[in-house]
Amino acid sequence: MRRRPIITVGLICAAVAGVVLWVIHGRLVGHWLQVHTGTVNEPGPYYGFWSGFGSDLTEFGIIGAIATGVYQLVRKYNCHHPGCWRVGNHLAAGGEFMLCYRHHPGYQGKKPTHDLIQRMHREHLERQAAMLGQLHEVHEQLIAKPAAAHRGSGPDAATAQATRSANAQAPRDAE
Ligand SMILES: [Zn+2]
Repeated sequence: MRRRPIITVGLICAAVAGVVLWVIHGRLVGHWLQVHTGTVNEPGPYYGFWSGFGSDLTEFGIIGAIATGVYQLVRKYNCHHPGCWRVGNHLAAGGEFMLCYRHHPGYQGKKPTHDLIQRMHREHLERQAAMLGQLHEVHEQLIAKPAAAHRGSGPDAATAQATRSANAQAPRDAE
């Protein structure tokens, strides 16, 4: 990972050196460029290059673009474990990570066996049932609360009654 900035700095230095050389030996480079791009000396060796292999250079650009796209796709679907190139189709941490079976903490580095799949499925169902049970409890409590308020007990009921009467009086005041 740390090598990347060094490579970038090296490339920038090389580009700067190239430009400096070009400026210093302007005419020479210009002539070299004209010969090598086939601008002058048309029947020379570079004419064949540019009308043959050289004309395919744009296609290499397209191939490069496709390769970049494939690389991005691979980056998207490969295992998120650093340095792993397997396809990661096992979600971990609630979908935060896509991991291969080898790096998924649930599989202990082995391919999930039939027993493990059965056990994890059962655990998942149990967990869901427990969550649904808790949700049901909270729901029951929420339903029980307004019922208690209607019965007229506690300070909540008094406030509720006060607001209700105020609301009822409001239209009459407007008339
Ligand atoms: Zn992996």
